[in-house]
Amino acid sequence: MSIRVVLVDPNHPGNIGAVARAMKNMGLNELHLVRPKAFPHAEATARASGADDVLDAARVHEEFDDAIADCGFVVGTSARKRHLSFDLVEPRECGQLVAEAAQVGNVAIVFGSEKYGLLNVELSRCQRLVTIPTAGDYASLNLAMAVQVIAYEIMLATRAGAPAPPPPDVPFATAREMELFYEHFERVLEEIDFRDRTGGGHLMARIRRLFNRARLDQNEMNILRGVLTAVQSRRRTAGKTVSS
Ligand code: SAH
Repeated sequence: MSIRVVLVDPNHPGNIGAVARAMKNMGLNELHLVRPKAFPHAEATARASGADDVLDAARVHEEFDDAIADCGFVVGTSARKRHLSFDLVEPRECGQLVAEAAQVGNVAIVFGSEKYGLLNVELSRCQRLVTIPTAGDYASLNLAMAVQVIAYEIMLATRAGAPAPPPPDVPFATAREMELFYEHFERVLEEIDFRDRTGGGHLMARIRRLFNRARLDQNEMNILRGVLTAVQSRRRTAGKTVSS
């Protein structure tokens, strides 16, 4: 099982190189880049200084969902505390959660662009949000520095000799499976004419928040998909009875 670092819309090639170096120092080597502004780039190679192998193996994606599709645990990172919908975790706890989840599936740690951080669409795919505590209001670290801190905690939690947290009994549903579930859920809501009463069309965002927080495992996912399918087929048979 693997632990990957995902950079979304990284702006400066130098930062990508510095991230590769920070990762390699801590034993992480899977780098995924979503829409990098400039990559490959001489500045990235220069700043990687010796971690060229991580850069060379980096995978580039157009879509964020492709970078996390096969991951059972997706952690977002943010300097801002305004994401009230999330239970914020600190890097140490993040290390433990990652060490636990990586025993049964792939894990993604997601970092935002230097300018904007992570956007709502990316946050809506994350099961936890980690914030590196800082002194006072000056909370925004350089991208590679943030990767360094998180990767360090993951290394402490996963290296040989570290007390391993008990593995989950069943692997978590992957990001791709979660997306298919949300599509299915939304389709069923439409079919049963369920009205969004949140004001402002936030219903699906809230549903996502609920199930992301729950970290569904494969069995739970199968049960929920089964329920949705049963609702659909019941409606279809009911419809036939009425019209016949
Ligand atoms: N201006 C942006 C800051 C982006 S910093 C904003 O307001 O969000 C680039 C990235 O580094 C962030 O998206 C996040 O992934 C990471 N980062 C920076 N500071 C962090 C902190 N204190 N805790 C966790 N991640 C941080």
